[in-house]
Amino acid sequence: MALTGELFIGRRRLSTPRQFQAIDPARGSALEPPFSAAGAAELDAACALAQAAFDPYRMLPLERRGAFLEAIARQILAQGDALLERTHLETGLPLARLAGERARTVGQLRLFAAELRNGDWLGLRVDPALPDRQPAPRPDLRQRKIPCGPVAVFGASNFPLAFSVAGGDSAAALAAGCPIVVKGHPAHPGTSEWVASAIVAAAAETDMPEGVFSLLNGPDNALGAALVADSRIRAVAFTGSRAGGVALMKIAAQRPEPIPVFAEMSSINPVVLLPSALASRATSLAQAFVASLTLGAGQFCTNPGVVLALEGDGLETFVEAANAAIGAATPAVMLTEGIHRNYAAGVDRMAEHGAQLLARSTDGGTRNCARAALFGIAAEALLAHPTLAEETFGPASLLVRCSSMPQLLQVLERIEGQLTATIQMEATDQALARQLLPTLERKAGRIIVNSWPTGVEVCHAMVHGGPFPATADGRSTSVGTLAIERFLRPVCYQGFPDELLPPELRAAELSRWPHRIDGERRLGRSS
Ligand code: NAP
Repeated sequence: MALTGELFIGRRRLSTPRQFQAIDPARGSALEPPFSAAGAAELDAACALAQAAFDPYRMLPLERRGAFLEAIARQILAQGDALLERTHLETGLPLARLAGERARTVGQLRLFAAELRNGDWLGLRVDPALPDRQPAPRPDLRQRKIPCGPVAVFGASNFPLAFSVAGGDSAAALAAGCPIVVKGHPAHPGTSEWVASAIVAAAAETDMPEGVFSLLNGPDNALGAALVADSRIRAVAFTGSRAGGVALMKIAAQRPEPIPVFAEMSSINPVVLLPSALASRATSLAQAFVASLTLGAGQFCTNPGVVLALEGDGLETFVEAANAAIGAATPAVMLTEGIHRNYAAGVDRMAEHGAQLLARSTDGGTRNCARAALFGIAAEALLAHPTLAEETFGPASLLVRCSSMPQLLQVLERIEGQLTATIQMEATDQALARQLLPTLERKAGRIIVNSWPTGVEVCHAMVHGGPFPATADGRSTSVGTLAIERFLRPVCYQGFPDELLPPELRAAELSRWPHRIDGERRLGRSS
């Protein structure tokens, strides 16, 4: 497929005079072709189509929505490796990693298609009428969840496939029954065009209403800001910087009718090394830590950015082995020049604020290469300068030396909301681990024992969320089937005649789906 640089407004493709180009981060050169930037007219057209598509799309039988998601997965796979080659050029990410990310993207779409058929997410509840109840009769009350309306999805730079045009946010919103208007990430517009073509082909194949999907590109803040402010958009899904996420939250909150923003922003993912774990396997812990830290040039939101441990011989062995592993780490090119610049500034800031540089990997000699860095600091110093525990996006981590468990807990208490918190422990550390749990549960969306935070399973039990600033709303997740809940809201139908009810709440169909009658759980026939 030859890239055209056009925007996708429903079924229409069009170009505009204002254009921008993707930059190959490894070489600094502009990539062909130029891409059209959307202005007010294109934004208006995409939002109008999304609004018009909302009722027809959400009212389609669930089977049709599932078939659409599966067709998107099939169309992406049919594009073959040419898609990955373009993504590699735009992001510098290795082809093997991108093949894995494509598998995850396709897997997410299929998982949501299966979730649609399972029907748990419909949240069906029935409290039958009690006409003879005293002192007053109870009417028939039935509840289900409906989609919230068109969703603005922001493509993420660090997951050009799995959290971009057809990524987790898009899959969850489309599964919920929401049309999407995607704001493509300006670092990978060619990848966005490939994937948008797959979605448009899938929409045609499964006869979806026009407006179920549009892709808008633009190289600056104005487009995203206008999209979030548009009254036809009913929710926002975003992965990126804290500054960007907070700016969008403000715009959404200041609208005449505010809307929810599900932003995944900033997390340093604390790892606690408990004493018996350090005593028994300090060297292998250090090696696994550095592997997690440097994976994908550290450009994961679950990157282990802070490590806490009690002073002792085990910790010294850990530091020695971690320093050696960092020294030997292969530098890798970062996603964009801007991300590389931010990373270098973050590393400088850590040094300026009194953290001691323990180890640094060598310069890769290539443009925009990230040199991994490990800093050390005493707990007292971190408590005095808590901003040191803010995210430096990339392969940098801060080792915090604590003199006691109460001090370690005090540091954890000062750390902001997190996507993950990890405990490395042996059976003999269990009493200490138990002391950590109440704090970690308050701070993080996922608590991990004896593995590492990078590597997020896409499944039913996953939580990829957490208190601010990890996300804008710690009650949700952006990975796993629970992510659909972000785009749903409950509606209660009181006193309805059966034939007027939505199909899944009618007497003939209710038993097909999981539901509750007077609070009692019933399995559905399709469960
Ligand atoms: P970003 O700057 O937050 O941009 C992400 C998307 O949001 C882009 O489409 C961008 O559009 C838009 N955007 C950002 N600020 C906006 C604003 N004020 N108003 C409207 N739209 C806005 O993230 P990035 O480009 O991926 O990387 C920059 C930094 O973000 C990194 O250095 C890193 O610190 C952080 N980051 C964190 C994570 C994480 O998972 N924690 C992931 C990726 C990046 P335009 O670019 O077109 O303005």
